[in-house]
Amino acid sequence: MNNLKGELQENLKLSEWTTWRVGGLAKRCYFPVDKNDLATFLKTCAQNEPLLWLGLGSNTLIRDKGIQGTVIITQGRLKELAELDNNIIRAEAGVSCAQVARFSARAGYEHGEFLAGIPGTIGGALAMNAGCFGRQTWEQVVAVEVIDRQGHIRLRTPEEYQITYREVIRPAEEWFVAAHFQFVRGDKNKALATIKELLDKRANSQPTGKACCGSVFRNPPGDFSGRLIEASGLKGFRIGGAEVSPKHANFIINTGTATARDIELLMAHVQAEVLRLQGVQLQPEVHIVGEL
Ligand SMILES: Cc1cc2nc3c(=O)[nH]c(=O)nc-3n(C[C@H](O)[C@H](O)[C@H](O)COP(=O)(O)OP(=O)(O)OC[C@H]3O[C@@H](n4cnc5c(N)ncnc54)[C@H](O)[C@@H]3O)c2cc1C
Repeated sequence: MNNLKGELQENLKLSEWTTWRVGGLAKRCYFPVDKNDLATFLKTCAQNEPLLWLGLGSNTLIRDKGIQGTVIITQGRLKELAELDNNIIRAEAGVSCAQVARFSARAGYEHGEFLAGIPGTIGGALAMNAGCFGRQTWEQVVAVEVIDRQGHIRLRTPEEYQITYREVIRPAEEWFVAAHFQFVRGDKNKALATIKELLDKRANSQPTGKACCGSVFRNPPGDFSGRLIEASGLKGFRIGGAEVSPKHANFIINTGTATARDIELLMAHVQAEVLRLQGVQLQPEVHIVGEL
């Protein structure tokens, strides 16, 4: 462990590392200082140690009994962001999507503006194929750097993944370290203006400043989960401290006292009601992890 430069913490409260502000303790958490340090750390882990990767925790529901394993937290850690040759922007997994949007706009690229509206990290955006305003993360990616349990880093191309709406099927036990984006050369001022316009639109349609995880359910083909939940009369419905947002029905808000169990129970209730009243089985977009 002596060669490690990052920080290892035991019994860390994960509620402080997710945007829902819920979740139990992690047996241990590692905060790497950079990708080489991360590789060194992975080599020290037992082969059967469960590993969970967390970016900003803006799409993850961690259960109240926490994680009996190691959580690797990348936000603000794997943080290199640079313009390479051949119009490539390389962003490490812990860089926020908003930073990449602004950096690429200022460097005179268009089509990265949508990332300004996604509150997570690049690692999370790659894992989720996050998207908004008609664009998705992987449409702009030409390569990714990945790391395995043994700490080996390699380059992969998008063709090596099965990428669909909010889902990316990838080799097990391999995680994202960085993305290489190729945006379109364009007008810096136009790109910056688009970012502002997208953020204004978002502030008008979504609950801002609340503890939430964005859209809880994926949109079913040809419809919107928010519309189906609202049509089922569930806006404002509460279980414990968890509430279906009165502003955007596909958001569940932690009103201050919610537990992960409240949120999970509310999700199940919403699914059951939408199935009963609208005949549609909603699929969660958020990832649910941790001990029951
Ligand atoms: C207010 C609000 C608005 C939102 N709006 C949108 C939106 O418009 N569009 C959209 O798509 N999403 C939206 N989201 C959801 C969320 O921001 C995105 O899914 C985001 O990409 C998640 O990034 P994260 O870093 O928070 O991921 P996390 O929640 O930390 O992780 C998500 C998943 O990715 C895995 N993961 C994280 N890092 C890595 C890595 N380096 N390698 C491999 N796996 C990893 C985690 O294990 C987990 O399974 C919104 C969320 C909020 C709170």
